[in-house]
Amino acid sequence: MRTLIRDVRVFDGEQAVARADVLVVDDRIAEPDGRRADVELDGTGRTLLPGLIDAHTHTFDGSLAQALTYGVTTELDMFCLPPNLARQRLLAADRDDVADLRSAGVLATAPGGHPSGVMAAVAPHLGRPEDANGPFETITRPAQAAAFVAARVAEGSDYLKVVIDDGATGWAPVLTLGPDTVKALVDAARAAGLRTIAHAVTCKETAIALDAGVDGLAHVWADTAPGDPAADELAERAAAQGVFVVSAIVNYEVSGGSPDRVANAGHVAGALRRAGVPLLAGTDANPFAPLHGDGLHRELELLTRAGLSPREALAASTSVPARHFGLADRGRIAPGLRADLVLVEGDPTRDIAATRAITDVWRRGVRQSR
Ligand SMILES: [Zn+2]
Repeated sequence: MRTLIRDVRVFDGEQAVARADVLVVDDRIAEPDGRRADVELDGTGRTLLPGLIDAHTHTFDGSLAQALTYGVTTELDMFCLPPNLARQRLLAADRDDVADLRSAGVLATAPGGHPSGVMAAVAPHLGRPEDANGPFETITRPAQAAAFVAARVAEGSDYLKVVIDDGATGWAPVLTLGPDTVKALVDAARAAGLRTIAHAVTCKETAIALDAGVDGLAHVWADTAPGDPAADELAERAAAQGVFVVSAIVNYEVSGGSPDRVANAGHVAGALRRAGVPLLAGTDANPFAPLHGDGLHRELELLTRAGLSPREALAASTSVPARHFGLADRGRIAPGLRADLVLVEGDPTRDIAATRAITDVWRRGVRQSR
């Protein structure tokens, strides 16, 4: 199967090309060769993007299908219980009408720690409550870290997610991992070849994550007000350590609590950008809000409000997450890469809102019916 998209503006994951032809052969992007294609599309006035990557989701039944309709071709799940994960993986491998996924599998948290309360609260509203409230392994001390990580490797986790959250800013106070246990987990994960991504929502929790040597953060923190020099200091520390940060500002927007947190989170994203920290667009999408797929388009708007150019926001949802999660086959438009593509009306490299004007989505080269 050969598909040719002619005369289209291309955002290749890093930069924009005003006009090009893009050929798709089966499930791969190929170099145009002048031969006829089975399907030819006129891309005039449209922009072709790499399939979008949401770098922070919680994937349940229906999530991957919903994400794909919004042009999200890969979800990076940050906590999935084994039976649910096995089901979602099978779906992503078998079907072309759902997004692909990578997952942390079971995250590392203290007994009863975040997000146990959230999971118990949402479980009755799910088709399969056991996907949220099933039992899972927790951890309390550094000596357990190596075995905890080995169990995640055995389950097929793609990276380790560690929770540092004492509940002070959201739900009721809960037990959280001590700094020494966080550090032991990061070290064990690194020894096992896994990246560690930390959930931290305050300045103090973020500092614990940085002290432990994490690879990435799953949220921007939201307790430094605009103008607080602590935000810039922490951002510079993250930059010096080469840590990437998943934004997930939209989650602060939809999860209630103080409206200041949304403004703070946007300001922190701006500080991280100025410091040169790689920003990855993420949502914390779940079956309720933010919605899978839809939430990422809102996140891109929030990132541009935080100071990213539309092009930087597009990179934050394509090439940057691909690079930082080791997904070498996607996130860019180049010959040989996987044909995960999104075609939109207009020019999102100038007006980010155009990412919502989707005309076509390809997943592994398969054009989705719309
Ligand atoms: Zn999350």
